[in-house]
Order: sequence, then structure tokens, then C-alpha cells
Amino acid sequence: MIDDLPPLRDVIRTHDLRAKKSFGQNFLLDLNLTARIARAAGDLTGADVLEVGPGPGGLTRGLLAEGARRVLAIEKDARCLPALAEIEAAYPGRLSVIEGDALAVDPLAHLTPPIKIVANLPYNVGTELLIRWMTPDTWPPFWDSLTLMFQREVAERIVAKPGSKAYGRLALMVQWRADAKIVLNLPPEAFTPPPKVSSAVVHIVKRDAPRFPAEAKVLERVVAMAFNQRRKMLRAALKGLHPDIETLLHSSGIAPTARAEEIGLEQFCALARALKDNR
Ligand code: SAM
Repeated sequence: MIDDLPPLRDVIRTHDLRAKKSFGQNFLLDLNLTARIARAAGDLTGADVLEVGPGPGGLTRGLLAEGARRVLAIEKDARCLPALAEIEAAYPGRLSVIEGDALAVDPLAHLTPPIKIVANLPYNVGTELLIRWMTPDTWPPFWDSLTLMFQREVAERIVAKPGSKAYGRLALMVQWRADAKIVLNLPPEAFTPPPKVSSAVVHIVKRDAPRFPAEAKVLERVVAMAFNQRRKMLRAALKGLHPDIETLLHSSGIAPTARAEEIGLEQFCALARALKDNR
């Protein structure tokens, strides 16, 4: 027992929260598991937590029981609000709920640093938010860490290293300015109803400065072009970037005949700098 609130199956029955496909709802009903996910986010005492997609509140309860100073939860499905109000009442002053689309709501006005983000979201929304959180206009971002549930295959793309099939834009975008690791693997049966694929929780901690210097926009463009045609040699895939791309590749320590998936972050950053200096 992590709190005195009713078990989640009862909450779902009382509030008639049958999972809807249109909201991407696959709920976690085991409170020991949601507490484990909350613990994967690190020490929550003294931190504000932004939770996206609380649903019936299993993870929300985990976050509060684990000591989060405050939780701000954004939920699109209005049917969940009465269940979340019961949690609010059990933890006075520590939970605020906003009804809305996380892609449209600006949570910053409601949060005080340090801020951690934790979510079990529909996969498409999760990936879109991850990309936004990783590419703010200025770095460091407003958050300290992201602890997010993904489809296993997407989690593997986030932590992938050069030379693997999963390696690409997502890995480079995340690993340039953050440390990412898979902290929990979950089979479909952990969810109600079970999704078709396995899931994994990824914990991402921001670095104050990028691992290697580069201008974000230039690096993003290079990486996007390189992996758009990942089977091509880089001198061909990147030829639209600069009239003398072969020389720039050489000076960045990259063989022009190499393919994107063989190239590490350090070399991509060197190429982004060379492009910027030779515009
Ligand atoms: N966090 C809960 C749990 O672990 O059991 C629910 C997880 S369920 C996979 C995803 C939740 O995100 C649902 O409650 C759904 O209504 C909500 N949701 C879906 N799209 C959303 C969006 N764009 N903004 C905010 N919430 C969203």
C-alpha cells in the first residue's frame, strides 16, 4: 500500500474509466510498479514534477508517495478529472491538474525549478514532446530530467550507439546534450488493456553544456540529411549542404565514403562546426 486511496481497479469502476483507444489509453494499475517508475526519476523531494497524461492517476500517486514537492498533471480526457480530484484531496496543496492537450498547454507558469518530467503517454505524443523538450531555443532547458515510457523499439533508438540499426537522429539529438538510459522494461501485460508491443522507461538527464560544441540548428540539419538517406555514402547524402562537402568531411575526420550510421556524435559536431565556419 503506497497510500490510503482505493485500488486503481476500484477507481476505474467508480468513475467508469473504460480505456479509450482514441486517447491512447493503456493504464498501469499496479501501484508498486508506478512507485518504481517514480523512483526511476531520482530523488523527487524538493522537485516540482510535470506529469503528462495522468489518466486514473496510478503514476501520479507514485510520484506523490515518493515525495514530489508538487505535481502538475496535464490530462486531455475530462472523464479522469474526478478521480484525480480525489488524489488532490488526499495530498492537500501538492497536486494541480490542468485539463488540456499537453502539446498546446504551456506548463512553465505553474512550475518552480528544479523540475522533473515524468510521463506514461501515448507513444506518438511522447515522441513529439521528447523532440520539443530536447530542442528548446536556449540550453539548458527548463527541466532537469525526463522519465518517459516509450515503445521498446523507440527507447532503443534513444539510447543507440553508432554502428547499430537503431542509431539515428533520435539518439544523436538526445545524447548530444543529455545522458539517456533504459531503466525499466515492461511487457504488454503490465498495462490494461495490454498494447501490442513491449515498452520501456527511459531516464534522460540534461547536461548543462553539450558534449561537443556545435550550433544546434546546423547539427540538426546535418544529422537529418545524413540519416534521410542512411544507406548512401555521406559525400552523396550531404552534397546539398556545401559545394565542397568532401573537403569538409575530410577535415572533420570523416571518410567521405562512410555512411551516417558509422559516424559518432563527436564527428557530426566537428562537421557542423566546419560547415558553420565555411558558409
Ligand atoms: N499515466 C496513466 C497510467 O500510467 O496509467 C495513463 C497512461 S495512458 C498510456 C496515456 C494518458 O495520456 C491517458 O490518460 C490519455 O487520456 C492521456 N493523453 C493522451 N493524449 C494526451 C495529450 N495530448 N495531452 C495530455 N494527455 C493526453
